[in-house]
Amino acid sequence: MVKNIEIIMKILEKDFYKKGKTTLNRMRTKPDAFKILISCLLSLRTQDKNTKIVSDKLFAVADSPEQIVKLLTPRLEKLIFSSGHYHKKAQSLKHVSRVLIDEFDSKVPSTKEELLSIKGVGPKTANIVLAFAFGQDVLPIDTHCHRIPNRLGWVKTKTPEQTEKALEKVLPKKYWNEFNGMFVQFGKEICQPISPWCSKCPISKYCSRIGVVRSR
Ligand code: SF4
Repeated sequence: MVKNIEIIMKILEKDFYKKGKTTLNRMRTKPDAFKILISCLLSLRTQDKNTKIVSDKLFAVADSPEQIVKLLTPRLEKLIFSSGHYHKKAQSLKHVSRVLIDEFDSKVPSTKEELLSIKGVGPKTANIVLAFAFGQDVLPIDTHCHRIPNRLGWVKTKTPEQTEKALEKVLPKKYWNEFNGMFVQFGKEICQPISPWCSKCPISKYCSRIGVVRSR
C-alpha cells in the first residue's frame, strides 16, 4: 500500500468530487454507451467545453451508428469542426459506426477486448466506455491521471497504459469509480502539466513532487 493514498483521496474527494465534472463524467448519469463512445472520440486533443458543444450539435442530428454512417462526410465534418482534427475524427466516427453495425449488431460492446478490436478505439477510450457506460471497475487513464500519480510517487511509469496497470495494484478499488473525474479536475485546476500550483495544493504536504522542476 502506498503511503498516504487514503488521506490524499479523502482530501481530493472533498474538494474535487462533485466540482465541475467533465462532459464525459456528466454523461454517466444517463449512460448511453454509443454517445459516450462518440463523445470520447470527439474529446481527443480538444478542450472539454468543445466536447460538450460538438457532441450536442452532432447528437441533435445523428445519435446512432446508422445515422452517423448516413451523414455525408462534409456535413459530419462541419458538425464536428470545432472539436479540431475534424477530418480525422469524421473518418474515425464513420469507421467506428460502420464496425458497430457490421460486427456488433449496432451496439457498443462491453468488453475491453472487443472495444480495442475497433480501429480508432484506444485503451483510454475503451476504459471510459467500460467505466462510464457499463459501470465496470476499470481506470480510464488520460494525461492528468498519468501525470499526477507519478508526481505523487504512487507509481513510476512512462505511459498511461503502464500507469493503469500500476494503479490497479496500489489504488483501493473503492476509489476507482471516481478516480478519473477527480484527477482530471484536479489536474486542470491545480496540478497542471507545466508549473503546477503547489502553493495552493491541498495535498502538497503528502506529495513527493517527483519530476516537478517549476511550480507556482
Ligand atoms: S504539490 Fe504540486 S506536484 Fe504535488 S500534487 Fe500538488 S500541485 Fe501537484
